[in-house]
Amino acid sequence: MDQDSAFFWEGVEKGELRIQRCSACKALRHPPRPTCPRCLSFDWDSLLASGNGAVYSFIVHHHPPVYGFEIPFAIALIELEEGTRIVGNLPGVPPEKVRVGMPVEVSFARVADEWTLPQWRPKEEPTR
Ligand code: ZN
Repeated sequence: MDQDSAFFWEGVEKGELRIQRCSACKALRHPPRPTCPRCLSFDWDSLLASGNGAVYSFIVHHHPPVYGFEIPFAIALIELEEGTRIVGNLPGVPPEKVRVGMPVEVSFARVADEWTLPQWRPKEEPTR
């Protein structure tokens, strides 16, 4: 967490998925950063995302081990229905069941004592 991302992590602690929005051109961006990549404005606010999206792309992590995660696991790039993308994992979903375009919804999980992460779960059963 830093000055630019504090609003995001404070939202995650409350079970909210907050996305940074440029006040000038209304472009969404994630991860949070000081300036708008489209119009270079420093002014921004945030919107509360619905938490609905779809897998845009993904990779399968095999090594090295990651604290709090059982390998292998999928790391997905989720396209939110609001129109920007966010990286996350899909706990409990075998990597071979992850598909591009799979509808997902956000959930929030405490993965360490003081670390809550937004995670993603399928909105439908994965196809075999
Ligand atoms: Zn902008």
